[in-house]
Amino acid sequence: MNINANYLNLQESYLFSTVAKKVKEYQSANPDRAIYRLGIGDVTLPLVPAVIEALTNAVAEMGEQKTFRGYGEEQGYAFLRSDISAYYAKKGVDLDIDEIFISDGAKSDIGNILDIFSTDNDVLIPDPVYPVYIDTNIMAGRKVDYIYGTLENAFTPLPDKQTKADIIYLCSPNNPTGSVYSKEQLKIWVDFALKNNAVILFDSAYEAFITDKALPTSIYQVEGAKECAIEFCSFSKTAGFTGTRCGYTVVPKSLKRNGASLNTLWLRRQTTKFNGVPYIVQRGAQAVLTDEGFRQTRKNIAYYRENALLISDTLRKLGIWFTGGENSPYIWFKCPNGMTSWDFFDFLLKKAGVVGTPGAGFGKSGEGFFRLTAFGSRENTVNALKSFSALSF
Ligand code: PLP
Repeated sequence: MNINANYLNLQESYLFSTVAKKVKEYQSANPDRAIYRLGIGDVTLPLVPAVIEALTNAVAEMGEQKTFRGYGEEQGYAFLRSDISAYYAKKGVDLDIDEIFISDGAKSDIGNILDIFSTDNDVLIPDPVYPVYIDTNIMAGRKVDYIYGTLENAFTPLPDKQTKADIIYLCSPNNPTGSVYSKEQLKIWVDFALKNNAVILFDSAYEAFITDKALPTSIYQVEGAKECAIEFCSFSKTAGFTGTRCGYTVVPKSLKRNGASLNTLWLRRQTTKFNGVPYIVQRGAQAVLTDEGFRQTRKNIAYYRENALLISDTLRKLGIWFTGGENSPYIWFKCPNGMTSWDFFDFLLKKAGVVGTPGAGFGKSGEGFFRLTAFGSRENTVNALKSFSALSF
């Protein structure tokens, strides 16, 4: 018996545990000091009434003989896939419902999709990054290369003549940097993938935060993407489903490699290893896409966006370079006075009582940067910013 030794190559993630430890230590030494947390990537507003109503109705159905449901289709109920297809149609993207797979959130599918790819593929991951992309590849023993986000490229790195990749991860709006690729920039990636026979794994978990009509909310708004991209999305940040769990993955039928349809491979994978998302949850997710559910969930997003704009305004006034915050819940900024990410973390905690996330925790090129999030309450955000603004660097 041998274990999968690739797991031994994973780096321990100390980011959030170190943040929690430092905050706890500071709090016990300064019990009267107010602490404002702008570090969390989780939503704080409750599910909207339209979702609660749909969930409640579905619970009642499950208790009646006539409407009870057992196993559903592994790829999701047609009612939800059809409404997601209609949501894409409004974006100008035509999707057959068989191209949509309902998941229990984007994280699982982002990891699981690797089942359908060979382990000898070259993987290209932007740094700084959502760590799941890296760890799931290390677990499978794949070689990972990085493309670096920098101040110069405003954290939207693009391929150059030296770039090589079979699998490319892109996340837009980005976690942790909040940067968003334009259509023209995504076209460069799509053309690169088509030319190199590569596949783009496009994470659009934060697409609902985009309000600038010129920016793409789906990679399929870019010509050629259906021949080279898989898209992952989620109701987590769109509708506060982080604890309810529902997302979806789009695998176009026209996406083929080695003569095989990736849609067929993914369907085979899902029907073998997955038994679907609860009926009740899928009814809740469907409610997000109704007129009323959409209006209510977008109101919550507007609340978070308002927090993001307050954070951006403060940074602008302080003359600090930042990206994100406009079409994203994340704000990514350069630590003042050339401080390292962790030095700035300590400084901000001790001088202002504000907790953020050090950029270095998201990868090498995150060093010297810092992430704040807009998912807190308005009161907490305003108080944190008041305290932050009073600092002198
Ligand atoms: N993708 C990104 C970039 C994320 O930041 C997150 C969660 O924070 C996810 C995916 C996972 O979302 P889900 O809750 O749908 O699993």
